[in-house]
Amino acid sequence: MAIDKGKAIEFNGRNCSKEKDFDCVHGVRPSPRDEKLMYEVKIVTDFAAAHNLRNFRGRCENLHGHNWKVEVVVRGDRLDQAGVLLDFGELKQATRQVLQQVDHQYLNDLPYFKERNPSSEHIARFLFESLAARINGDHRWVFSVSAWESKDSCATYYGESR
Ligand SMILES: [Zn+2]
Repeated sequence: MAIDKGKAIEFNGRNCSKEKDFDCVHGVRPSPRDEKLMYEVKIVTDFAAAHNLRNFRGRCENLHGHNWKVEVVVRGDRLDQAGVLLDFGELKQATRQVLQQVDHQYLNDLPYFKERNPSSEHIARFLFESLAARINGDHRWVFSVSAWESKDSCATYYGESR
């Protein structure tokens, strides 16, 4: 699937307006991979935790909790002999293992969030990086992780586009 440049800009939330930015700086230029038939699998799960956002100057600066809904999207360009990109059970298990680190925790106390506020954006990034380390291979990779902190508010992290 081709990613047009406008989309790439939007997806990454960065101010990339120059052609060269797409060539090397952020690695968001569509790769030849994007031109090929792609497969995508997605799972949805959730976890509960408490946090407060430092220097937020709003209600979220106070200690409170959410039941975050988490969506994990894995993409790839090749299926295995069973015609499967990634076994859903395997993806769910890996996600469960990663979520054990944040479920029913006070997120501000976790090492990852000592320097970064435990915003939904950073939570999505934490989950993305942890899952990518477990799941990524030559022919499949974590494409995005979304963290819904309420039914109408969601943050998504894409990592470096592949
Ligand atoms: Zn919150």
